[in-house]
Amino acid sequence: MNGLRSSAIRDLLTITARPEIVSLAGGLPDPELIPRERIREASEAVLARPDAVQYTETAGWFGLREVIAARESAAGSRPVDPREVVVTHGSQQALSLLAQVLLDPGATVVVEEPAHTGALQVFRLAEARILTVPLDADGMRTDHLEELLAAGERPVLVHTVSNFHNPGSATMSVARRRHLAALAEAYGFWVIEDDPYGEIWFDAAPPAPVADHSDRVIRLSSASKILAPALRVGWLRGPRAVSEAVELVKQGADLCGGALTQQIAATMLADGPWLTGHLERIRAVYGARAGALASAVTGAFGDAVSVTEIGGGMFCWLEFRDGTDTELLLAAALDHGVAFVPGSAFAVGGDHRGTARLCFTTNDESTLGEAVGRLAAAHGGR
Ligand code: PMP
Repeated sequence: MNGLRSSAIRDLLTITARPEIVSLAGGLPDPELIPRERIREASEAVLARPDAVQYTETAGWFGLREVIAARESAAGSRPVDPREVVVTHGSQQALSLLAQVLLDPGATVVVEEPAHTGALQVFRLAEARILTVPLDADGMRTDHLEELLAAGERPVLVHTVSNFHNPGSATMSVARRRHLAALAEAYGFWVIEDDPYGEIWFDAAPPAPVADHSDRVIRLSSASKILAPALRVGWLRGPRAVSEAVELVKQGADLCGGALTQQIAATMLADGPWLTGHLERIRAVYGARAGALASAVTGAFGDAVSVTEIGGGMFCWLEFRDGTDTELLLAAALDHGVAFVPGSAFAVGGDHRGTARLCFTTNDESTLGEAVGRLAAAHGGR
């Protein structure tokens, strides 16, 4: 336990719950876009089934695995068998189970920097040796990964958030997807493609998944950002040897997930016309907010800040070019009534004192404008 720390973001969320603070620090879907009425209808429908209130298969209720396999097949160019899919308690559990399956203490893993903190927590708990490669506007710098490999590093796995990165907002280019897959084939490591945001695109869908280019890719995704985090329905899909090993570990972890929420999720994910309309609404609302936030930041800070282009997801990533220390800025910002997450929360080894993550999902355009005004006042008064 000695190496573990509480997530800085979870700690910050207790401060930002104060009503006078506009919080851009969270990473939650807008409660208004969580389809409560549709969840109620689906609950009523599935409660008519006795198996909705029983234990279910460890790998997940088969009807849900079929729906997920069909959706994964449609997103890529290769048909996915439902038996490659394991339903987990959010995709966070998929990551945790995969670490148990794949990692011995001291094993080398590679993450992107800035890093997804949920992945760091899992890999630290597994006592992995964590190396990083930087992220830029085109996603993971696979040339840096190649350098690590050429220098003799032999990671067991490489973790990537391929679409609309948390926190970095970037989406991996097609060329880098192919490069990462080719490196995985050549060096025999696993790629974990962690993709909870891929369906929340604004102008154009992201490129085909990394998993399209190699069988050494294990894909994770989730109902949390498109339906509701409270369902705790996530999933992985990977080669049968991996999904079967994960299933064995999951037996010991929790016997099985909740049949009730899995059947609710299956009902909603299988309802194509409803889901299409729902996703269109999410994309429209978040897209407008992302645009409003990015232009407010550009208007207020000009050349002092660079904003990574936001193609989808929930986050806006800032890099201050004027020497601003975002931990100090956060202290001033809280006094001005606005919160964000400083880049140091996502740092592993590198220096992220000049970066920040702003979430745009839970405030409307005018509140986001107000928040940026407060941030600029805090920045000006440093
Ligand atoms: N992966 C990434 C990149 C995330 O940002 C999150 C949630 N913040 C998760 C996984 C976990 O989501 P869940 O467990 O709710 O599916």
